[in-house]
Amino acid sequence: MVAPLDEVLWVSLPYIVIVVFIGGHVYRYAVDQYAWTSKSSELLEKRWLNMGSQLFHWGILIVILGHIIGLLVPPGVTQAMGVTTEEYHKMAIVLGGASGLVAYLGAWILFLRRLLIPRVRKTSDATDFLVLVLILITMTLGLYNTLIYDIFVHPFPYRSTIGAWLRSVLVLQPNPNYMVNVPITFQLHIIFAYILFLIWPFTRLVHVWSYPIFYLRRAWIIYRRQGGRRWLFMLRANFIKEIFRHLLPREKFNNNWSEIDNADRAWEDLYRNRWQYDKVVRSTHGVNCTGSCSWRIYVKDGIVVWEHQAVDYPTNGPNMPEYEPRGCPRGASFSWYIYSPLRIKHPYVRGELMRLWREALSKTGDPVRAWEYIVTNPELANRYKSARGKGGFVRASWDEVLELISAALIYTIKTYGPDRIFGFTPIPAMSMVSFSSGSRFLELIGGVMLSFYDWYADLPIASPQVWGEQTDVHESADWFNSMYIIVWGTNIAMTRTPDAHFLAEARYRGTKVVVVTTDYTDVTKFADLWIAPKPGTDAALAMSMVHVILREFYVDRQVEYFINYVKKYTDLPFLVILEKSGDVYIPSRFLRASDLGLNVPNAEWKTVVLDLDTKRLVIPNGSIGFRWSNEGKWNLKLEDSITGKPIDPALTLLGLHDDVVLVRTYVFDERGPIPIVRGVPVKKLNVGNKDFIVTTVYDLLLAHVGVNRGLPGDYPSSYDDPKPSHRPGRNQ
Ligand code: SF4
Repeated sequence: MVAPLDEVLWVSLPYIVIVVFIGGHVYRYAVDQYAWTSKSSELLEKRWLNMGSQLFHWGILIVILGHIIGLLVPPGVTQAMGVTTEEYHKMAIVLGGASGLVAYLGAWILFLRRLLIPRVRKTSDATDFLVLVLILITMTLGLYNTLIYDIFVHPFPYRSTIGAWLRSVLVLQPNPNYMVNVPITFQLHIIFAYILFLIWPFTRLVHVWSYPIFYLRRAWIIYRRQGGRRWLFMLRANFIKEIFRHLLPREKFNNNWSEIDNADRAWEDLYRNRWQYDKVVRSTHGVNCTGSCSWRIYVKDGIVVWEHQAVDYPTNGPNMPEYEPRGCPRGASFSWYIYSPLRIKHPYVRGELMRLWREALSKTGDPVRAWEYIVTNPELANRYKSARGKGGFVRASWDEVLELISAALIYTIKTYGPDRIFGFTPIPAMSMVSFSSGSRFLELIGGVMLSFYDWYADLPIASPQVWGEQTDVHESADWFNSMYIIVWGTNIAMTRTPDAHFLAEARYRGTKVVVVTTDYTDVTKFADLWIAPKPGTDAALAMSMVHVILREFYVDRQVEYFINYVKKYTDLPFLVILEKSGDVYIPSRFLRASDLGLNVPNAEWKTVVLDLDTKRLVIPNGSIGFRWSNEGKWNLKLEDSITGKPIDPALTLLGLHDDVVLVRTYVFDERGPIPIVRGVPVKKLNVGNKDFIVTTVYDLLLAHVGVNRGLPGDYPSSYDDPKPSHRPGRNQ
């Protein structure tokens, strides 16, 4: 007579477990494929994982193999193979025990890693712990049965009891009598295994069925796998008809040159479904890409299913290459990123800072005081700052990071004032809403809005502040009009992919391309000449080039085109005030119309040049003071803005100078800032009761880069002079 509990445990429960196990996997695969993953935390911690995972997985494979042989193969089979029950038993204890211990050690390492390493713990959910705890309990019982009960208590014939019961379950003739006298620890081992199998489909354990052996022959990240539906297609198709279709009569026509194939076409649904859509919207890719290419986005059931270049940019005219097809492979695969399990959807904070913040908050009980507690303590401040650049981010809640950021802002405003807060939000070309919300916030709190150039530092720093325009650079299509292009500090093929073709097309009309990169990047393939400076020396190379250009095209020989160009398009002729600093002078600010007492609009924002024709100080058109003055002089005509007469700005004061003074500038190298004192020609002005000593930006530039014009100071004597900086000899 079998007790009701035994009926439940050894007759009903096994089938419930099997149904949930199989049904759960089908359900999970159907509705939750994107989360079908081992949820690897390898990025967060490698050492323990490597050790624990290797031990556990290799050990458990042998353990599972042992269970399969021990439970599913009847003892009679192994006996017929010449292995006696005693021999099998010993082998099971030695091999099973050893591999079990290895797996057990690995499981403990994985469990402790998840528990003790904060960043792994923070990214674990309850099921991750549950799985490990259940594995540990089940293995503890299994090892006890194998290594203690079997050896020290009583050898238990589990193959003829538990094995026989399992086989009876699998052939649908469950016989609980086999289990009635099984020791309790063996029964508990099975019951905990039940629980493991029950939760299996709903946890990370599903990754067991996705062991990445196929990675050997395909991409290593797969977000959609259409092959998974194949069995559905097999069911839908008329399978029998499909098999015998070659024997069925076929309809032929066209003098038997054509025939109608009876092949099942259900497989085509795969493709039809793949390319179905409900609507098309216009968008671009918010991946910090300034390409901002126009794309048509195909949407089905609210999901982006595919995308296509819009291909409707206006033409560039008859003698220019077109923009189209504008887009890049990154953009074409962007819909995959959107649904990638790797996509960041929560705030992450550097772990060190988070730890400090939580401690400080619990200590002070006030967010602003907590922030103050951290940043005013040099040791604490150094702890989170020195962790920068080392990764170690942990997930936080939106509320927590909002509180932290608000506290930091409030503390800074209270302590230093709102204009100590600098910020920038995503570039307007990408998203007007995020750009506007961030900039409005900064304006409202009295902070300082940086420009996109200062933020990303991939274009001239402070350019918008100087020019009053967001972007003063030309459009990429204009590369086609250049005859000589130096590509430096950019990898156009990678970072301006949709525009890179203009660079290639320019070469067809004879443009020479020089590429300066330390390594062979994607853009190097465009080069007629590839210059590969040692890493970290390209600034020295640039300074040497500037020195040679100034020396040979402006000083030793004056090339009219270059001279006129810098007079018209640069600030080199503007006058700069010099201020006394000890025995020497230092450059201060531009001389302005307001310094001359001129009553003109925005006088504080208008710079001054010396006109070579009249030898008078004049206010040229085009400086920032004209930007908003509505005088109609926001242009680069070389004219006196007051009289409207043409001017010829003096580039240098040499020859017109009242004196030569020593000016101190700095070069920066591995020793830090090194002062350099060099002579520049100056004019002495007296305006009202004020005296000014001024020189031009050009004269300061020549002094700074060490172009010797016979003036006093620390100038190099030749290109080969190794002493002061900024000339070729040293920069070699
Ligand atoms: S360059 Fe590529 S990623 Fe950037 S917007 Fe264009 S298509 Fe998208």
